[in-house]
Amino acid sequence: MTTFESLGVSAPILKALAAEGYNAPTPIQQQAIPIVLRGRDLVGLAQTGTGKTAAFALPILDLLHKNRKHAGEKSCRTLVLAPTRELAAQIGDSFRAYGRFLGLSTAVVFGGASMFKQKQALYRGVDVLVATPGRLLDHISQRSLKLDAVEILVLDEADHMLDMGFIHDLRKIAKLVPAKRQSLFFSATMPETIADLASQFLTDPERVAVTPVSSTAERVEQAVIHVDNAKKQDLLHALLKDETISRALVFARTKHGADRVVRKLQSAGFNADAIHGNKSQGQRTRALEAFKKGYARLLVATEIAARGIDVDEVSHVINYDLPNVPEQYVHRIGRTARAGLGGRAISFCAPDERAYLRDIEKTIKQTVPVMETDYSLSAPRADDRTPRPKGPAGRKPQGQRPQQRRAEGKKPAANAHDKPQRTPSHARDEGDRRDRKGNSVWSNSGAPPKYRKQRKPEGAKRG
Ligand code: AMP
Repeated sequence: MTTFESLGVSAPILKALAAEGYNAPTPIQQQAIPIVLRGRDLVGLAQTGTGKTAAFALPILDLLHKNRKHAGEKSCRTLVLAPTRELAAQIGDSFRAYGRFLGLSTAVVFGGASMFKQKQALYRGVDVLVATPGRLLDHISQRSLKLDAVEILVLDEADHMLDMGFIHDLRKIAKLVPAKRQSLFFSATMPETIADLASQFLTDPERVAVTPVSSTAERVEQAVIHVDNAKKQDLLHALLKDETISRALVFARTKHGADRVVRKLQSAGFNADAIHGNKSQGQRTRALEAFKKGYARLLVATEIAARGIDVDEVSHVINYDLPNVPEQYVHRIGRTARAGLGGRAISFCAPDERAYLRDIEKTIKQTVPVMETDYSLSAPRADDRTPRPKGPAGRKPQGQRPQQRRAEGKKPAANAHDKPQRTPSHARDEGDRRDRKGNSVWSNSGAPPKYRKQRKPEGAKRG
């Protein structure tokens, strides 16, 4: 049997892993750890839940430990980029836990938290810095951080970074780190755009892949309930009478939708909280903690807020709304099958969501079994082809398929009943920062993006 020791992980890290209760490396860890320890670049096709954080954190800690030196003022030796604050915080926690006997320093920086405290943490230099791209660039522009001492660069959840419009920030960051470095790149999916991005960051990388995205679904017991939109809340309350639903993550498509569901749950006496991009960082952290510790049985989340959330023992994922991008379904239900455990996922499907269900079933190559309840509509027959929302030319109104838009680094477009999640200024790290013309904008002040003055025509320039 492969052990962490046989992979070459050093003693103080082994001691920390024993304290964490990790008996054996997961498949991604078995594959990735030796490659990273050899100093090679790596592309990992893996999603959260497979143990990928430790797959890069353990060998990085080992390398830093074996070659100890001071990072230098306002510098870091390892830079880990993550798309959301929650994920960044979790990765930081993992580095601290696995490295607790090493005495290496770790800092985490993301938007929505005190810039001042982060500057203090960066001032003396750190061994490991975990950051969201927007806040990282804020620190660079305010000269509280420089990247010329980076030895190892990690890009985590690259597909999610692109979905969120971070491509321009990533390109800027890539120019600021030394060309001579080790780079590790993780993504749950590897369409052409992600592979392109990977090729810009990596030199002659080795590749590892575990659990292709559609197969996570195999571990989760799934069901779909056909129900009218107007009956979804009643259905949710009825389901929650079942006490085997001990800890459930409920997904709503929009932030307002999530708030509405929580309000109604609370007035019906259920212990529920919401987590989405309109909540302050403090509210998000508190809601997540209450859920993790089991004080709140239900956490109602939007897609973006929930990505990367690592909570053990989520007994159920409930899709109050079905996602319009099939891969999101796989990510959502993967929240309940962490580290090899099983779980249940129940999806509500309104008549106008049946096209999404068909796309999902195609992606996971399974038919989701129908669950009958008192609120159920009759299930659609195989030949019941509920039309997709159509535009005037017989196409989808947004003109491009969501996958195609994402392939171009754009956010998936909204459908008629899918109000887009606009990004408030305090949640800048969680969203696409573009002006009305679609140009990426970024301001140093932390204030909402301002529209830049129009450039003068070429001939009118100085000189
Ligand atoms: P990740 O894919 O990094 O989000 O990890 C998913 C979960 O698996 C986390 O809760 C980790 O603490 C846990 N985990 C990671 N590696 C191992 C391991 N080798 N043995 C047991 N649990 C693990």
